[in-house]
Amino acid sequence: MAVIGFIGLGNMGGPMAANLVKAGHQVVGYDLSTAALDAGRAAGVTIGESPAAIAAACEVVITMLPGGKHVLGVYDGDKGIVAVVKPGTLLIDCSTIDVESARKAHALAAARGAASLDAPVSGGVGGASAGTLTFMAGGEPDAFERARPILEAMGKKIVHCGGAGAGQAAKICNNMILGVSMIGVCEAFVLAEKLGLSHQALFDVSSTSSGQCWSLTTYCPVPGPVPASPANRDYQPGFAAALMLKDLKLAQEAAQGAGAPTPLGAAAAQLYAMMNAAGQGGADFSGIIRMLRGEG
Ligand code: NAD
Repeated sequence: MAVIGFIGLGNMGGPMAANLVKAGHQVVGYDLSTAALDAGRAAGVTIGESPAAIAAACEVVITMLPGGKHVLGVYDGDKGIVAVVKPGTLLIDCSTIDVESARKAHALAAARGAASLDAPVSGGVGGASAGTLTFMAGGEPDAFERARPILEAMGKKIVHCGGAGAGQAAKICNNMILGVSMIGVCEAFVLAEKLGLSHQALFDVSSTSSGQCWSLTTYCPVPGPVPASPANRDYQPGFAAALMLKDLKLAQEAAQGAGAPTPLGAAAAQLYAMMNAAGQGGADFSGIIRMLRGEG
């Protein structure tokens, strides 16, 4: 069992670190928030003095932070973790961040002889708590093989997507599909309502026809056809619209940098920006159907 540093014990990082403890690892954690530290302690995480103090003492360091600037802030500089890691330390960043920052983090690690992986997740807080996350990893095959047993303590599907940044690329491409498909499904239900077609009738046809997709069959944006979907509980998340907007913006940044035309991704980002601006960022992303209906 490894001694694992864990920086960022928030909604996702907290339960992920707790699962590492349950798997028998010694976990040394750090966060800026007192509440996150208290929850970590209660789950059996030892609290470290600073990210650098943790990195100097651990053979593996995982970060689970809000964005690219936070990850590079923790990695880089005199007080950063990269300045103090022992050669051979494995750095795994599980945050969802832009591809460029992910590649910078890999380069910083490589310059110190540390192995690194970008390994963002899907599955949300429920998956983090249940230990059923999907990890999409980018980095050298050796780093991936070293990380695999550690990631398996927190997830049920671990995919090596390619070199540095490939995990982040997979994450934003997947979530762009999700954002676009959810809006498409919502528009179809709104049109069906105007045409006098019942939700159930549209669901029964499309869930077994060419319109079938995850947004319809697992996460149906109207109450009724899929009882577990957030539509049945007034669009409590689930996956908040603000997080969908974050991922769609990352996809747009990457598309612009790479010169990829993504007109529907751009439209989806705009629509989720409108939902957010209307004060609905905390609602589940399937709640965009209310905005498409013109509801307040
Ligand atoms: P969160 O805000 O709950 O947790 C982030 C934690 O990082 C906070 O506790 C914060 O105090 C801490 N932090 C910030 N800067 C720090 C620093 N310099 N040093 C130490 N701690 C610091 O966010 P979350 O929901 O846990 O999300 C974390 C990441 O996972 C994000 O990149 C997010 O996009 C991604 N993600 C979230 C979900 C989800 O459903 N919440 C799903 C998939 C991916």
